[in-house]
Order: sequence, then C-alpha cells, then structure tokens
Amino acid sequence: MFPEVLTEGYKTFLGERLPNERRKYEALGAGQQPEVLLIGCCDSRVAPEVIFDTGPGQIFTIRNVANIVPPAEDNKGESHHGTSSALEFAVVALKVKHIVVMGHATCGGIKAAGMGSDPLSSGNYIGNWVSLVEPAKRKLADAGDHKDKEGYLTRLEYAMIGQSLENLMTFDFVRKAVEAGELHLHGAHFGIATGELRVRDPKTGEFQSVVARDGQSLNPSALIHCS
Ligand SMILES: [Zn+2]
Repeated sequence: MFPEVLTEGYKTFLGERLPNERRKYEALGAGQQPEVLLIGCCDSRVAPEVIFDTGPGQIFTIRNVANIVPPAEDNKGESHHGTSSALEFAVVALKVKHIVVMGHATCGGIKAAGMGSDPLSSGNYIGNWVSLVEPAKRKLADAGDHKDKEGYLTRLEYAMIGQSLENLMTFDFVRKAVEAGELHLHGAHFGIATGELRVRDPKTGEFQSVVARDGQSLNPSALIHCS
C-alpha cells in the first residue's frame, strides 16, 4: 500500500489545488524560473513551502541533514555531491537571485555534531557529513563557548549557518555571481515551536527576529540586510 498520509493529501491536491491552479501547472510544465534557492534541513518539521506559503515553481529547494553547504571540492568525478550539484544547477542554469541557508531549532544533525553520537550504521554517513560542522564548533570554542553551556546547540545552529554561507563563497560560480551583484546570500533560522523566523545580519552574524513585538506583524529592520 502506498502511504495513506500521501494518498489522502494527493486526493486533496487533485480535488482542490490542481483545478484551482491548473493554468499555473500547465505553464510550469514548460520550465521553472525560481528566484530563490533555499537550503534547509530534511527535518519533517521544517517545510520551506509551508513556512513561506509558496506554491510550485517559487523556491528551488535543497534539503539535507542539518542544512549544511560543504566547501567546494575538485572532485574529478571521484565522488558524488548531491548538495553541490543542486547548487551548481540553481546558480549557473537557473540563475537564482537569492540563496537562503535556513537552519532550525532542535536540529538533530547539529546535535549529533555538537554533542557527539554513535554511528547509526557501519557507513557512519551522518558522522562523516556533520564533521563539516567542525569549523563552526571551533569558532564557538575560540570564543569560550562549549557544549555544557546553556543554549550551546542553538548557538551552534547559528554558527553553522554562518559557516555554510562562507562555504558557499568557495564555489567560484557563487563567488562570481555575488561579486557581480547578481546573487545575494542570506542566513535564517526557524524556531519550530514558536514559529519564529530569525534572519542573520551579515555584518554582526547575529540573528534578529523578523516578527515584531506584537507577534503578528513583521519587523522590517530584520529584513533589509543582504550580503
Ligand atoms: Zn535539522
């Protein structure tokens, strides 16, 4: 049996969204022109299309464990780069105007990196992948932060978003597009339980809430920064 959660959802799509948006889908059949590449975590609680209320064709999305961008590698065809290949396509072929790296609260991948965890299989794929968090851990350690301090994992989530933004600039096609003013990089963090979105200020590395104090409107000053 195909999973019921999907069958039921598809029924709704077929009965409501598709008839309402048939023209949009027909147009999208010819191709996509999303302006935003969003790199998020594969965590089921952090669905970009839900958080940003977007429809098909609007966000080109890469989701992996802990929303990590690895540094560029000259792989000469010897290894397989899922994230880097999608990045290459989004920037070079689709010419997206923005890349958003979006982390989130209580991220299991960041926790595995920050607290250490036993391999889940002999391949230790997660351990190897989240070893990319090491530079962010070192930066926190250099500032006197460590895993026994309260809120450490949140700070590591923030720091790794910054590290991923740095790693993005190691790809020559990203760096050139940014330097030409054609591409803008952003960091964001989703609070899950609170629904609060924070955006990274590239000048300070601080994450500022985009939700105003009234809890309903937007805080414009958090939204104006671009790197
Ligand atoms: Zn996560």
